[in-house]
Amino acid sequence: MAFINDHYLKLKAGYLFPEIGRRVNKFCEENPNAAVIKLGIGDVTEPLPTAIREAMHAAIDEMGEAGSFRGYGPEQGYGFLREAIAKNDFQSRGVDISADEIFVSDGSKCDTGNILDIFGANNKVAVTDPVYPVYVDTNVMTGRTGAADENGRYAGLTYLPVTAENNFVAPLPESPVDLIYLCYPNNPTGTVATKETLKQWVDYARANGSIILFDAAYEAFITDPEIPHSIYEIEGAKDVAIEFRSFSKNAGFTGTRCAFTVVPKQLKGTTASGEPAEIHPLWNRRHCTKFNGVSYIIQKGAEAVYSEQGQEQIQSLIAFYLENARLLREGLESVGISVYGGVNAPYVWLKTPGESTSWEFFDELLQKAHLVGTPGSGFGASGEGYFRLSAFNTRNNINEAVTRFQNVVS
Ligand SMILES: *Cc1c(COP(=O)(O)O)cnc(C)c1O
Repeated sequence: MAFINDHYLKLKAGYLFPEIGRRVNKFCEENPNAAVIKLGIGDVTEPLPTAIREAMHAAIDEMGEAGSFRGYGPEQGYGFLREAIAKNDFQSRGVDISADEIFVSDGSKCDTGNILDIFGANNKVAVTDPVYPVYVDTNVMTGRTGAADENGRYAGLTYLPVTAENNFVAPLPESPVDLIYLCYPNNPTGTVATKETLKQWVDYARANGSIILFDAAYEAFITDPEIPHSIYEIEGAKDVAIEFRSFSKNAGFTGTRCAFTVVPKQLKGTTASGEPAEIHPLWNRRHCTKFNGVSYIIQKGAEAVYSEQGQEQIQSLIAFYLENARLLREGLESVGISVYGGVNAPYVWLKTPGESTSWEFFDELLQKAHLVGTPGSGFGASGEGYFRLSAFNTRNNINEAVTRFQNVVS
């Protein structure tokens, strides 16, 4: 008999994006002439910058010559990329992270899920609500939760509500937790964490022996100089935090795949017998055993993100999306909608007008304006009554979407 992992059966069947897809497909079948604009899924739309493509082309040519051909590379990533990351993303900001604390991978989605391999099953886990669903579902899959209730909340997880009432600042948990997922700039709310907020979390983790899993996938969208880009900008964070970064959103790598995880060498967890244990060798072992490295070609492309040309080109991509976010934000505010985020992040999070639920507003927007967004309740019970719009789109679509949106609600 082959037994399955029964924990998978606890996963909620009507997962957010398939349900959106089902409703959009049905609408399109019934309204074949409607020009639907999708501001739903968070995927980039602008092409890969030339500096990155040129580096990839050159790497392909190297692979075609016997003298420069490469087979398996180091599982943790090539030195040239790990050095460039350490220098440009951390040391340049006064953060002492070294190249061998960086693990290059094919995505932060995978890393934030895979990290659970090296942590005990009995950890108390905290997530914000609303939240990036990957953190929750991977905890369900690995058996760290009970069943979901009617709001989609899993028994055993600690949910930290982030709403307009608390200014989208995650409150410290009432009873102790061991692993804490934080994502800033935040998906889905588009809000950021100040130095003071992050310091509170670092202090909490230090006092409680917890580890923070910090997802900084949208760090490049921070424009406010007071907002930290890395959790390691907070004193003491290297003892208590793992940071996830990705080239997906800043450099357009969603289809190309490259990301990295930072595991400081001084970070320690606790063994079942209560002894301190280093996390770095565990993640190194996990990564080398289950992963065989990112393609050389892709890593050369990622390295080019840090060249002078690459930096210029990705800055203009980010500025483009942030301008989209501004147009969405201001366009909605001008018709009296309460809007959050969208300043240091490519997501706008809005309060649904009147008393409508997230899904009611989804249907109304689709029917009347042929616009697709993401219902806030799909990201967690506390997302009910909110709605996410993504700034990843063409300028024409953003302008058209704002006009249509205004016509529906005014
Ligand atoms: C897009 C995104 C990522 C990046 O995922 P990749 O697998 O690197 O493409 C990570 N975290 C969040 C919250 C995201 O929205």
